[in-house]
Amino acid sequence: MVNPDPAARRALPSVDRLLSSSALAPLIAKYGRALTTETIRELLQAQRDKLAQNTGVFEFDELQFIAACDAELNKRTQPSLRPVFNLTGTVLHTNLGRALMPPSVADAVMAAMTRPVNLEFDLGGGARGERDTHVEKWITRLAGGDGAVVVNNNAAAVYLALNTLGAKKEVIVSRGELIEIGGAFRIPDIMKRAGVKLIEVGTTNRTHLKDFAEAITPRTAAIMKVHTSNYAVQGFTACAPEPELAALAHEHGIPFIVDLGSGMLVNLEDYGLPHEPTPREALANGADLVTFSGDKLLGGPQAGLLVGKKELIARIRKNPMKRALRVDKMTLAALDALLRLYTNPDRLREEVTTLRLLTRTRADICIQAERVLPHVQAALAGKAVASIVDTGSQIGSGSLPVDSLPSAGIAIHPLGKAKGSFADKLSLAFRALPVPVIGHIKDGAFILDLRCLDHEAEFIAQLPRLHLK
Ligand SMILES: *Cc1c(COP(=O)(O)O)cnc(C)c1O
Repeated sequence: MVNPDPAARRALPSVDRLLSSSALAPLIAKYGRALTTETIRELLQAQRDKLAQNTGVFEFDELQFIAACDAELNKRTQPSLRPVFNLTGTVLHTNLGRALMPPSVADAVMAAMTRPVNLEFDLGGGARGERDTHVEKWITRLAGGDGAVVVNNNAAAVYLALNTLGAKKEVIVSRGELIEIGGAFRIPDIMKRAGVKLIEVGTTNRTHLKDFAEAITPRTAAIMKVHTSNYAVQGFTACAPEPELAALAHEHGIPFIVDLGSGMLVNLEDYGLPHEPTPREALANGADLVTFSGDKLLGGPQAGLLVGKKELIARIRKNPMKRALRVDKMTLAALDALLRLYTNPDRLREEVTTLRLLTRTRADICIQAERVLPHVQAALAGKAVASIVDTGSQIGSGSLPVDSLPSAGIAIHPLGKAKGSFADKLSLAFRALPVPVIGHIKDGAFILDLRCLDHEAEFIAQLPRLHLK
């Protein structure tokens, strides 16, 4: 129904009048004139629309309106990228930013961001330097090989390796390794974009050395092995051992490339975790070039690391696409600080955040769950019941998909008869907290895996604001 009293609508002030109001000056100073004007205009329009629907007396309260503008502007200017609690049980969660970095690494990034640095400047000779040299010696020391290049991510590393070594030629890969990693990284597509003809050999479950040998032609540029990071082929399987593939490649004068995906620099078994192939092992098995990610098990910034033979690294560095895929000073500062931590494996568990989270024991997580449980229960306000449960965390980001790490968490069930959408409602309510809490739903329950719960006091302090409908 339209408000029959036009006087009510006329009672709204103009945008200009509001903008010249002294009470609005602090908002303009804080948010800028353009955004403030836009917000006032929209809120006035909303008010006008509301008036058109309602009858009755209306009095415009300027101070109240300006307070509403302030709240709206504050909401609109919140950072889009916000901290969250990753209680999904997946430690390296790609959608939640993968690896968390230790404070010493963050400090190094801060310095590189806010001060000039010798990024491509040789302090000795005063001439132009090469940005990758800041980390090259650490990568080769820790991973093996005699040269290294760093690019934007591992997808870029694989692309660059293929484009440099195999453009207009053929690269042989086993059918069992034509992987897709979440977010549209598919080996056949990367090959195509890199200008390489993919030669698939073998079958999904079995590929033999002779399959590779028979596929080699004068057009073959390389043999490639891709670590099947995010799945496992089990049962009647066979794959050609790396040393034999390397020997075959070298017999024909072509390189053997390995895409490791995660590629950890230390043996994870030393930390009680399942084995993950290392670049050092791949190089020792005869690989000429190995590619891996910076922000998976390594626990560093998003980056792709290529390590191997100096001659191949030099060719990769000369590829014009290297310039398009290079990393910035923040990434190099982070990698430099992180790799230096790896020089002391004894302190790694305390110092590398990802490794600390991955190696937390179920017993330790259970103790934390006991502390947190009463606070969660109180926040549920009698609408649901929380209990401690055993969970299995995932390493995530395509690492070691079959193994889960014994962990503990809090499961929240509805009281009485379960309603289908209850877990969804819980999930939504936890995501609406000031620092959103991300869990997962399993068998109708909402589960918070506590393996990655740092900032426990902050987590508990915001629980009273949980709003369950
Ligand atoms: C994760 C992964 C990639 C992609 O690495 P990003 O750093 O995410 O670009 C490529 N290959 C394998 C085998 C992987 O596991």
